[in-house]
Amino acid sequence: MELPKQFRLKGKLWKVVLVKQLVHEDGTKCYGICDTDTRVIHIEKNLNPAERFNAFLHELCHAMIHEAHIDETLLDGKIEEILCEAFADIFTHDFDINLMEKFNE
Ligand SMILES: [Zn+2]
Repeated sequence: MELPKQFRLKGKLWKVVLVKQLVHEDGTKCYGICDTDTRVIHIEKNLNPAERFNAFLHELCHAMIHEAHIDETLLDGKIEEILCEAFADIFTHDFDINLMEKFNE
């Protein structure tokens, strides 16, 4: 599955770019980075499609948390990582919902 090049969250435009190699500020390697200042999600190019999609979903969760303006005193970085990892996992395993179908019932 191809990743979207851009998407909107609460009306805000986010971009998705594939990059050669990603490194956190502390020097550790990572598969994705969510830059909330520029609203750009960076995903490592050399992942297999499943890893790439999972990395995108993880970063998308960070973007959603950012746009939801959740109080940072209530959600520290470690908890946010756990949530993003868990939600990305849920979305990649048998997640299926057709919102329009539900609307039309
Ligand atoms: Zn993360």
